[in-house]
Amino acid sequence: MKKLTIAIDGWSSCGKSTLAKQLAKKLGYTYIDTGAMYRAITLFFLRHEVDLKNESEIETSLKKIDLEFKLESTLGDQPQMFLNGEHVETQIRSMAVAEWVSQVAAIKAVRSFAVHQQQQMGANGGVVMDGRDIGTFVFPNAEVKFFMTASPTIRAQRRFLEMQQKNTAVSMEQVMENLQYRDHLDSTREESPLTQAPDSVVIDNSNLNMEEQLNIALQIINKIINPNQE
Ligand code: C5P
Repeated sequence: MKKLTIAIDGWSSCGKSTLAKQLAKKLGYTYIDTGAMYRAITLFFLRHEVDLKNESEIETSLKKIDLEFKLESTLGDQPQMFLNGEHVETQIRSMAVAEWVSQVAAIKAVRSFAVHQQQQMGANGGVVMDGRDIGTFVFPNAEVKFFMTASPTIRAQRRFLEMQQKNTAVSMEQVMENLQYRDHLDSTREESPLTQAPDSVVIDNSNLNMEEQLNIALQIINKIINPNQE
């Protein structure tokens, strides 16, 4: 069967990566977490104190960045982000990175750098890619497009719990503020803002557990690939 491109976009912390990982596992596809790429670029910029208003400094810095997703058996069954050879999954999930990532991701040169690599990674299909502009900009011809949403409180609670489990010192209010801030910047920026692709299917998972969410997505995929099946 032809390998599909599955695009999952939506608001911050509404379960995009959970669904993407589930689908990738079920279908034997590669999962690509595009948010991790923008987070790793942000980590590099923070470490090197790159001036976000200085275009030539940004261009020079991007040339020094090598991003790679690698599967390491000692680090679980999901691809892990490596920045210039360093495993940075923990560092890119920090509050410091969360506070800056949407400003970094709004920079045109940063988007071209990341989008080019995403298009190369997904060129042969067989990928589940999650982000903000996958179905609208990176792969406008993706066969399957989901737009995920969930209530703001539920999203903040989920992210807060996740961060607590990772022992990140953060309050529920900080998490809520960060989500609102990122959603605002992501949906109002000039370069490929977060919008729902007209041909995407909305999944609101406020009241769905992981199994229900996966089953709904699989049914939708099945309908898309077999439109005449009862
Ligand atoms: O998906 P995640 O929350 O890790 O993404 C972090 C940030 O990266 C988002 O808030 C957004 O600013 C940016 N991003 C983006 N385009 C994507 C994926 C993420 O602008 N395709």
